[in-house]
Amino acid sequence: MARIVMKFGGTSVGDVERIKRVAQRVKREVDAGHEVAVVVSAMAGTTNQLVKWCGEVSRLYDAREYDVVVASGEQVTVGLLAMALQDIGVNARSWLGWQIPFGTDGIHGKARIAEIDTTEMVKRFAQGQVAVVAGFQGIGPDARITTLGRGGSDTSAVALAAALRADRCDIYTDVDGVYTTNPRIVSKARKIERITYEEMLELASQGAKVLETRSVAMAMQHGVRVQVLSSFVDMPGTLVVDEDEIVEQQVVTGIAYSPDEAKITLVGVPDRPGVAGAIFGSLSDSAVNVDMIVQNVSQDGKTTDLTFTVGQADLDRASHVLEKLRSELAYAEVVSDANVCKISVVGVGMRSQPGVAKTMFQTLAEKGINIQVISTSEIKVSVLIGSDYTELAVRALHTAYGLDAETDS
Ligand code: ASP
Ligand code: MG
Repeated sequence: MARIVMKFGGTSVGDVERIKRVAQRVKREVDAGHEVAVVVSAMAGTTNQLVKWCGEVSRLYDAREYDVVVASGEQVTVGLLAMALQDIGVNARSWLGWQIPFGTDGIHGKARIAEIDTTEMVKRFAQGQVAVVAGFQGIGPDARITTLGRGGSDTSAVALAAALRADRCDIYTDVDGVYTTNPRIVSKARKIERITYEEMLELASQGAKVLETRSVAMAMQHGVRVQVLSSFVDMPGTLVVDEDEIVEQQVVTGIAYSPDEAKITLVGVPDRPGVAGAIFGSLSDSAVNVDMIVQNVSQDGKTTDLTFTVGQADLDRASHVLEKLRSELAYAEVVSDANVCKISVVGVGMRSQPGVAKTMFQTLAEKGINIQVISTSEIKVSVLIGSDYTELAVRALHTAYGLDAETDS
């Protein structure tokens, strides 16, 4: 007997028929003798609608009331799933965040998890009851409803699995696992059987959409065994595990791309101490996240050019901040470009294997693709290129790192 957390995303509970199908899937685990907690999202599209309504009623809405509204989607799906389970003879009850309680801090709309009290849930496991838990929501220190941020139900599931010391956290979704890259643009993309936490974290934060980044960080921290698998087809998915559980390590495990980037260049910035601090300090004070940064060597020893990237959604805010710094810093010009895409190759194998960056640069050069900015970490190399070249670049790199699936066609 094992204790497992199963999580179903919005498309998996997208209508009543699908909810019934999820109930059958849960029943199989119950029949196998396992203790089961099921975490669900709102039906696909519901949360978007709720968010939209908030904006339509009030431009500067109260974040506490926003949470009351957007948390309601999950209330519907936990109730329906508990009913569907009861209907096929499975003892089940629904749990809203406050009923558990699933404690968070008071940062509404982006709450962090503080403590989850699983005492009652565990007592009921012993009586054979399935817990159907609303993802995405919790309760703050002042007893008000909170939400974890968009896509947060993956994190709910992993956090619950950690609190329950579950043997597994199975994340059911509309794809059947984690792929070497997005199969929609590379038909030869392969499903990865096992991937390390670190690699998954990089891929998620560099644009791969299958798991919420925060949930991967939490799984790594607590050693939760996460499996990503399809709720529509019955086959093994991708296991996210510790490095020592992977026998044959590829140098590059996966390729991610993120089109939501924008590039900003400050031309003619005075080359003296404190300037970068002033620029990035002001950006960070305005909650603009800066990602890649390059500073050119100054030709004349007086001024230099500084290029960096921000999220496209932050471009206006960033430009505004820089405009305000203009008189203080006396730079010549700001140039921005939203037509860029960041491509990242990720793999823990590159820690011990040289030549990964070289392969990337040569491959892109052979395709005539210009690299605008480069950044690296221990297990990742990222480049910024013109967005028109995204698909060409990802396909070429996928081949260059030997990731293409053998096709029988
Ligand atoms: N329903 C929430 C959202 O759409 C949480 C989730 O699905 O993960 O963001
Ligand atoms: Mg999701």
